Amino acid sequence: MRIDIITVLPEMIEPFIQESILGRAQKKGLAEIHVHNLRDYTTDKHRRVDDYPFGGAAGMLIQCQPLDACITALKAERHYDEIIFTAPDGEKFDQPMANELSLQENIIIICGHYKGIDYRIREHLITREVSIGDYVLTGGELAAAVMADSIVRVIPGVIGDVESALSDSFQDNLLEPPVYTRPAAYHPISNPNETWAVPDILLSGHEAKIKEWEYEKALERTKALRPDLLKD
Ligand code: SAH
Repeated sequence: MRIDIITVLPEMIEPFIQESILGRAQKKGLAEIHVHNLRDYTTDKHRRVDDYPFGGAAGMLIQCQPLDACITALKAERHYDEIIFTAPDGEKFDQPMANELSLQENIIIICGHYKGIDYRIREHLITREVSIGDYVLTGGELAAAVMADSIVRVIPGVIGDVESALSDSFQDNLLEPPVYTRPAAYHPISNPNETWAVPDILLSGHEAKIKEWEYEKALERTKALRPDLLKD
């Protein structure tokens, strides 16, 4: 799949998308992420993309022209399944949305900045508005990075072990069970006589019993921490 990110701060996103799973997914040819500098699309000779809002509200707004020019140029190249605007008042981003978007061919994610963008772009060009939570960020760059990361990691083949992505919290409405790695007996620095042990069952090699234990623990943690996930 291909994700095009439109931003006034490409330098904030570019290093992030080269790293870790996003970087590897691109090297494997499973995802393509392109970052576009909105200032390359303005007709303003000083490369300005913002102006004062009508009506005297405080703050600055990104203007229609550069956004329209960038979106139009991208749409001339290929069909986009979604043109997403990152917005604190949008639909709340979650795992089902990440799964759904990972099945798309091409999407655009637009990062707002300052006070936001001219509302006419939202009315005419945007197909979906997405918030990553009920708080206000300085710009949409972190939201776009969060979305790209969680979308790309569920593309089949991106995480070596498919089971691993599918067993993460939220994928089945259950939080993850407790997980441990070596050593099986750990002696903490503050008290080397003490032992922090891994539950015996995980060392037993008994696959069916381990699965049962993991399910029970996942259920127990979900009931305690996120009972809302179990409602339906
Ligand atoms: N005036 C706007 C907030 C602007 S914040 C309002 O009251 O709704 C500047 C930009 O940061 C926004 O245009 C949006 O692109 C991004 N942003 C801020 N908080 C966000 C959030 N919770 N989720 C997604 N994007 C967010």
